[in-house]
Amino acid sequence: MAHAVAKSYGTLKTFPGGVHPSDRKELSRDCPIEDAPIPERVYIPLSQHIGAPCKPVVEKGDTVRMGQVVGEAGGFVSAPVHASVSGTVAGIEERIHIFGAKVPCVVIDNDGRDQWFEGCNQPVDYSDWDHDAIRGKVRQAGLAGMGGATFPTHVKFSPPPEKPIDTVIINGVECEPYLTCDYRLMLESPQRIIDGAEIILRAVRCNRCIIAVEANKPDAYEVMREYVSGHDKISVEMLEVKYPQGAEKQLIKALLGREVPSGGLPMDVGALVSNVGTTAAVYDAVALNKPLIERLCTVTGEGVERPSNFLARIGTPLTVLLEKTGMRPGAKKFILGGPMMGLAQFTTDLVVIKGTSGVLVLMEADSGEYENCIRCGRCVDACPTYLIPSELSILAEAGEWEAAKEKNVLDCIECGVCAYVCPARRPIVHLIKLAKAELLRMKKEFEAKKKAAEAKE
Ligand code: SF4
Ligand code: SF4
Repeated sequence: MAHAVAKSYGTLKTFPGGVHPSDRKELSRDCPIEDAPIPERVYIPLSQHIGAPCKPVVEKGDTVRMGQVVGEAGGFVSAPVHASVSGTVAGIEERIHIFGAKVPCVVIDNDGRDQWFEGCNQPVDYSDWDHDAIRGKVRQAGLAGMGGATFPTHVKFSPPPEKPIDTVIINGVECEPYLTCDYRLMLESPQRIIDGAEIILRAVRCNRCIIAVEANKPDAYEVMREYVSGHDKISVEMLEVKYPQGAEKQLIKALLGREVPSGGLPMDVGALVSNVGTTAAVYDAVALNKPLIERLCTVTGEGVERPSNFLARIGTPLTVLLEKTGMRPGAKKFILGGPMMGLAQFTTDLVVIKGTSGVLVLMEADSGEYENCIRCGRCVDACPTYLIPSELSILAEAGEWEAAKEKNVLDCIECGVCAYVCPARRPIVHLIKLAKAELLRMKKEFEAKKKAAEAKE
């Protein structure tokens, strides 16, 4: 189907490398967005973004309302977290986070009244707001990238003056197999995305916006085109179906022909990329004074009886969503996110956070067995960031962290393409993540020692 679409739309842009995994989106693509059950108790993790964790500002027994801040941002690269139900704070409890460690969560008993905090969820006249006012509101609303990266949005909206943004890219690619919530959002709420894109253009003082959609979503492409018809700053572009087309650097390469430098950011080449879900949330934050207390999430996979696209409150236990969809007996693998970049979990005892784009339940699990590299070169040909994944995995296996760094291991976007094509089933991404974590640990250790030495002087 993707090839027929590609033909009728002419030659489509894309990036070098990449793969074409079976997308399995047919399981949930026709499931309209539905409200997820609202639980009796929510657990709001104080660490949901890249950056510093939040500091709790409520305590046991406090009454809270929807949209009220329960955790304050712990620094500039951080974002506050808010109550997603009205009710009473039952305490602050440590719970398992998707990365395996325990993090403190504000536990709220839902009073069932759905009462908003003062001033929230009401239309706002923002017509005369400048970029600082918009960025401030986005920060206050706790926005973080909802495509899975969870980078605090206001930081992205604050490029230094020497790095002006000339193109905003709204990312509706959703290239991860199985996931369909961004697709449903484009079909069901296109105006929120357009309005959010206009707000982002104002926030970063830019006059050009491209909404990117992959060719396996022709109906979403047509809807978005209809809604931007006649718009002088916003256009829609269809891209070839290829994984990881939705990764920031690959999207910029495909659309603008620009290479984000090693260790660099999109702003280094004048671009800003915002996921469609984040863009709609920008509209909600600015035009409705609505903090990020809910998100879209696809619950799908062969291990689910009724795949669904949910609008779920942040802090909802995943078991609540899985009860609604049903799980098939014998389901073996549970992943947060998609099968390529998602994180396999050992428990379903987790909650929806700002980055939970999908919950995937599969009937088959990997054996965990792998073989030595046979130097076939497939991973090198497919790597979209021009790395040598085979070499990186061997260096990581040997604990050669510095050597891996010299071979640019930190540029890996963890897309999973190398592991997907590897005939030896080597856990390349796992090994690369290990090398990155070790390098980060070593950097922190070095900085702490330097600080201690400076303090002594
Ligand atoms: S090395 Fe990194 S960027 Fe390259 S294919 Fe593997 S996971 Fe993707
Ligand atoms: S695809 Fe696997 S076996 Fe082939 S070169 Fe890469 S790591 Fe080695």
